[in-house]
Amino acid sequence: MTSPLLKVENLSKYYYGSRSLAERLTGVPETVVRAVNHVDLTIGRGEILGLIGESGCGKSTLGRAILRLHEPTSGRITFDGVDVTALGPEAMKTMRRRMQIIFQDPYASLNPRRTVAETVGLPLKLHNLAANPEEVRSKVSAMIERVGLKANQLDRYPHQFSGGQRQRIGIARALVSNPEFIVCDEPVSALDVSIQAQIIKLLLELKNEMGLTYLFISHDISVIGYLADRVAVMYLGEIVEMGPVDSVLSRPRHPYTQSLMSAVPDIDDSGPKARVRLVGDLPSPLNPPSGCKFHTRCPLAVEKCKISVPQIESVGTGHMASCHRLGENLSLLEEKAS
Ligand code: SF4
Repeated sequence: MTSPLLKVENLSKYYYGSRSLAERLTGVPETVVRAVNHVDLTIGRGEILGLIGESGCGKSTLGRAILRLHEPTSGRITFDGVDVTALGPEAMKTMRRRMQIIFQDPYASLNPRRTVAETVGLPLKLHNLAANPEEVRSKVSAMIERVGLKANQLDRYPHQFSGGQRQRIGIARALVSNPEFIVCDEPVSALDVSIQAQIIKLLLELKNEMGLTYLFISHDISVIGYLADRVAVMYLGEIVEMGPVDSVLSRPRHPYTQSLMSAVPDIDDSGPKARVRLVGDLPSPLNPPSGCKFHTRCPLAVEKCKISVPQIESVGTGHMASCHRLGENLSLLEEKAS
C-alpha cells in the first residue's frame, strides 16, 4: 500500500431508538442499532479500497460516517494527517472540498428543480473556488464535458437525462471542487449493465487523471474484483476480512467471504472451489448474534463461535480475517462441498 491518505480507527456508528416516558420509567431497555461497530481500515493515496457485503451490512453508513455526513458515535478518522473527527463545522466544511461522495441513485441525489449548471456549480460557490459567475460556468462546462456530457446541456434539468447521464452529473458534482478522496457508494448498481461498464471506465480514467483515492462500495464482487486494489468484507457492521484483492478473492479465508465467492464462480479459476450456500437472511443489527456474528449462518460454526468473538488476524501479506477456524476452514469447506 502507498502512504496512507485515510486512516479509520475503532469507528462506530450506533442509532438509538426513542423510548416513551412510561418505557423509561418501567426500565424498558434502549434499543441500539450498531450499524458500524469498531471498524479499523487504512486507504493509501491513489488506492481503490473495495468495500463489499450484503445490503444492510453497514457499508453505506460506514462511507457516510467517514465523511461525517452521519456523525460517528466514536472512533477517529484521520485524513492526510488531520483528525477529521475533531474538526468544528467551519473546518469540516473546508475539509469537505477534499472528501466527496458519489451516490447510488443518481436521480434521488439530484435536486429536480436545479439545472445541471446550478447543481455542479454549487460546490464551486460553497468553497469559493471561482471568482465570478462566468468562471463558475466555465469550470462547470469543462467538468461536464469531461464526464461525457455536452456543454449545451448545462441548462437542462435532471428529468431530461437518462440514468447513466444523471450519474455522470453526480460524478461531475463530486469532482468539480478537485477533491482527493471519493466515497463511491454503489455508483453503478442502479444502472443498466451496459451503462455500468461505461461509468466504471469513466471513474477509473478520472482517478488516474486527477490522482484520486476511492472507497468503492458495492455488493457486486465482480465489480470489486475488476477495479479495486484491496478489498474489505463487511458483515453486520464489522470488517471480517481485508487484504489485496487478488489474495482475498482467489483465496478467501473467512467463511462469509467464501460464501459470497460461491455465487461468482468465474472470477478466478485458480481459486478454491468450495461451494458454500449463504442460508438465511442477515440477522437484525438490533439484536445481533452473540460471539461471532456469522455463527447463525456459518457452515463451520462450533460451540465456541456462539460465545467468543474472533479477533482479526494476519493470514498472509496484508491479508487479515477474523474466524476461530482460520487454520482449517478452507479444507473443511472443500470437504463439505464435495
Ligand atoms: Fe464461522 Fe465460527 Fe469462523 Fe464465525 S468464528 S466464521 S461462526 S467458524
